[in-house]
Amino acid sequence: MSRESRYNFTPGLVPFTVSGGEGVYLHTSDGRKILDGGGGAIVANIGYGRPEIAAAATEALTGAAYVIPPWPTENRMRLVERILDRWVPAELTRCFLVSGGSESVDTAMRIARHYQVSKGRTDRWRVAGRVTSYHGATIATVAVGNHDARRAPFGPLLADHPKINSLSADAALKDLEAADPSTISAVILEPIIGSSGGALMSDDDYWPRIREFCTDHDILLISDEVMTGYGRTGKKMAVEHLGVTPDILVAGKGLGGGYASIGAVLARESVVESIAAANDSVMFFTSSGMEVNVAIADRVLQILEAEDLVNRSARMGAYLMARLEDEFSDHPNVADIRGRGLLVGMELVKDRSVGTTFNGALIKELPHELLSRDCWIYQGGSAHYPDNLLFGPAFVINESEIDQLVAIARAALDAAVTKLSP
Ligand code: PLP
Repeated sequence: MSRESRYNFTPGLVPFTVSGGEGVYLHTSDGRKILDGGGGAIVANIGYGRPEIAAAATEALTGAAYVIPPWPTENRMRLVERILDRWVPAELTRCFLVSGGSESVDTAMRIARHYQVSKGRTDRWRVAGRVTSYHGATIATVAVGNHDARRAPFGPLLADHPKINSLSADAALKDLEAADPSTISAVILEPIIGSSGGALMSDDDYWPRIREFCTDHDILLISDEVMTGYGRTGKKMAVEHLGVTPDILVAGKGLGGGYASIGAVLARESVVESIAAANDSVMFFTSSGMEVNVAIADRVLQILEAEDLVNRSARMGAYLMARLEDEFSDHPNVADIRGRGLLVGMELVKDRSVGTTFNGALIKELPHELLSRDCWIYQGGSAHYPDNLLFGPAFVINESEIDQLVAIARAALDAAVTKLSP
């Protein structure tokens, strides 16, 4: 058995061991430099190898390394103030720190339930999610999401949450009415559907009309910004593109920039007030908001601010989109290129002239072709959009690195398609 095969529960895909990183490159023990066009799992935003982060971690660990999650600490207060004052819509006035994306969604689902119970509506527990969506890997978040392959083994464990049309407001509202709004505690949406849809965006009126529906029925609107938050789409939060403020906003990934395991749950005052007035409280995980993670996240946000990296994400995203369009707009296996900022998806098909797909086979093959060319791009796909490449490099990427990324993507795609063609 190789040293690498003892790690992880799935058979080894990766033919190297990572030993370090700098900027948009990961370094391997055998001396390779991997161009990371996916920021890992759309996480790295300030780039790898930042010494300031190591300093912030050391400082936090030399203090009170563990403090029970509900207690305020100087580190927590600094981060909460930074997030609430500078990063999210002003209507979101409360912040709770957690340890990652799935925990943030799970917490939001529980908050929605606490809220409805605090209003005396004990029949309301279901959380409506989209037909194409991914919200995490815990049983509750798998149930509310709808990534078919990731749900498949768990059928009997998954609660029956309503599913709504992903792209059209008219159809989604019909689905919500049919599901009986009086049973629904919250609607959860990704502003741009990430890993299950390859940066899929809905119609312009989608969010405003769902917002109106939720307000009318006192259903909480949750924006899942685990992938889109903290500058990924070229705005601080992706809801800024949509002209809508949710009742709860959850985030993870980019908040820690790949240096910390952290997420945040932001809520309106009215939500928290109602729960508090009912003398209820929201349970934490033991390692929610750990001091070291909080101190690192604060430093990550400081770097994003000081280096104007959110605007850079918008600028480099526009360049990446233009380069992908140059290279792939006539490609027979590329059906669509879409996204915002440095979250760009490319929908891959077998033959775009007749609309046939590879049904997931292409994204199984592509990582081998990419990694053999010293490059990584995140993949996505679920039932309706089975094969997608999801570009999401760190915001520090430059034009020549983007040119290199697009050239490798082209070579890898053509090689993978050739392999799959009879
Ligand atoms: N929500 C969205 C939109 C995601 O993309 C993800 C992860 O990809 C999650 C939730 C779950 O986050 P984590 O994997 O950090 O638990």
